[in-house]
Amino acid sequence: MKEELNYGDDYKYIPVTSILSGVGQQVTNDIYCYTNQVVNLCFVGNSDGWSLIDAGMPRSAEKIIKEAESRFGPNTRPEAIILTHGHFDHVGSIIELVEHWNVPIYAHEMEIPYLTGQKRYADPDSSVEGGLVARMSPYFPNEPIQLGTHVKPLPENRTVPTLDGWKWIHTPGHAPGHVSLFREEDRALIAGDAFVTVRQDSLFKVLVQDREVTGPPRYFTTDWDLARESVTKLACLNPTVAVTGHGVPIKGEVLKDNLEKLAKNFDDMARPDYGKYLN
Ligand SMILES: [Zn+2]
Ligand SMILES: [Zn+2]
Repeated sequence: MKEELNYGDDYKYIPVTSILSGVGQQVTNDIYCYTNQVVNLCFVGNSDGWSLIDAGMPRSAEKIIKEAESRFGPNTRPEAIILTHGHFDHVGSIIELVEHWNVPIYAHEMEIPYLTGQKRYADPDSSVEGGLVARMSPYFPNEPIQLGTHVKPLPENRTVPTLDGWKWIHTPGHAPGHVSLFREEDRALIAGDAFVTVRQDSLFKVLVQDREVTGPPRYFTTDWDLARESVTKLACLNPTVAVTGHGVPIKGEVLKDNLEKLAKNFDDMARPDYGKYLN
């Protein structure tokens, strides 16, 4: 019997975009960052085998499949889809992708209840300090989606299925089961929303992708102490290159300096002055 996969009842297309929408960037020889409206997906690997990190905005599956085929050839499909977390802008097209490709999905076990209809995320904080996107956030899809048995927990030994040499790192705060992916060999980091390189709460900065290493998007972040610890954890890895869930990829000294600065001054730079998830 075919399993029912569904989005939440509040699923819809979200009309926000950026100048980089539809643009892809080769970050290392096997990491390609593709911007879909305002969120980044990563294609990791090559035409012999690749995996997709995150699944974009609602109603974008066709574009994502087209991008994959233009990189890896017609009828290509990933070996797996790995989710950094389950917010709507990271799982927006996952059902169409899984139905098209029929591949497994992996997420942290603490994120799985939100991906299998059992738990809903706390309401986004539209009152949080930080501009128009926060004001829009009550309109964002937030009901849990149902991926059934397609989604599996990441292995406890911190390896990432299908991605040799990569480890997942639990980086909660923005979401309970948020993970970042790190490869020791070249110290490449896929950070999800643990930190981002654009101030996601400014509609203007999102539109023009003004670069700034900053904390996680505010309206969805519910635990600021954990979010700070997660940024410290990632800064300690001393990554040489990072792709974040929002904003442009960042490398070298610029990454090092700005990530250290964020870790050191997290409360000043990232923690909002007011909002309902501040204790
Ligand atoms: Zn998020
Ligand atoms: Zn996000």
